[in-house]
Amino acid sequence: MNTATLSAGTLALLLLFFSLFFQTFQQTDKLQEEDNPITRFQNYLRINTAHPTPDYLSAISYLKSQAQSIGNLQTQIFEFAPLKPLLLITWKGSNPTLPSILLNSHLDSVPAEPSKWIHSPFSAVRSSDGKIYARGSQDDKCIGMQYLEAIRNLQLKQDFQPLRTIHISYVPDEEIGGFDGAAKFAASKEFRDLNVGFMLDEGQASVNDEFRVFYADRSPWHLIIKAVGMPGHGSKLFDNSAMENLMKSVEVMSRFRENQFDLVKAGLKANSEVISVNPVYMKAGTPSPTGFVMNMQPSEAEAGFDVRLPPTADPDLLRRKIADEWAPATRNMMYQVRNQ
Ligand SMILES: [Zn+2]
Repeated sequence: MNTATLSAGTLALLLLFFSLFFQTFQQTDKLQEEDNPITRFQNYLRINTAHPTPDYLSAISYLKSQAQSIGNLQTQIFEFAPLKPLLLITWKGSNPTLPSILLNSHLDSVPAEPSKWIHSPFSAVRSSDGKIYARGSQDDKCIGMQYLEAIRNLQLKQDFQPLRTIHISYVPDEEIGGFDGAAKFAASKEFRDLNVGFMLDEGQASVNDEFRVFYADRSPWHLIIKAVGMPGHGSKLFDNSAMENLMKSVEVMSRFRENQFDLVKAGLKANSEVISVNPVYMKAGTPSPTGFVMNMQPSEAEAGFDVRLPPTADPDLLRRKIADEWAPATRNMMYQVRNQ
């Protein structure tokens, strides 16, 4: 049959059929929009858990509701520090006397600068090519949601019960050192009672289906170097000004950074196997109403670095390098290492 032979009645029926089909299709599509692993992930991303004011309560209440929607999971909320809650989800194993498995992720994210984003950092917009834009999507909310989605699949589709009890912890404050989060949790009786035998935490993002598992992590050092010196007029050449001394250190550190980075670029070492040194701030100058005083050499200058040490690096050697080359007292320099 071709369309020219269709009677008016058949055409009306066909139109009705297509309109019903289209409506059903739209509804299915809308349902999928509303509740699937991607939209559940987006909803988590929309909770602003960035420092300095992470909304931990909303994040925990969302994750708790997700756990409840899966069923068969127990939830507990601990507050080892005021207003810094920690959520623990537990999936009982068939032999709970065995050491348990702990899957960890952190609730908080580093801050974002919204004006520099294509989409607002907490809108979790999904572009037509499937990319999701949100602060914390890789670090580390995808991991927190993957744990839950994996359990959801195992329970709903495969009716699986693990042999060992599995715990999932969602901890606060990881991005600011974890002192009120993982550190207090690890020192608690509640943690000891979990009898953890194996633990998995965040690693590095993967752009394909291969996931590398790391069994060591680099330790972060927040290094601040500071130079002091005689202040002087901007027109005068003299030795040992604070800026000159700081710039010398920055040059030495940049060369070290290049050497480490060359090893990575040459394929001899992985990113995680070298000492990374990245400048994060510089503080110097004498402020004026229009910016900085331009004809004066300041008496103090400071720079901050994010330094990461692989487990194979000798921390004492690096400390000596900092004291001897990066911030030598002979050049009126001082330094401070935080968060190690
Ligand atoms: Zn992280």
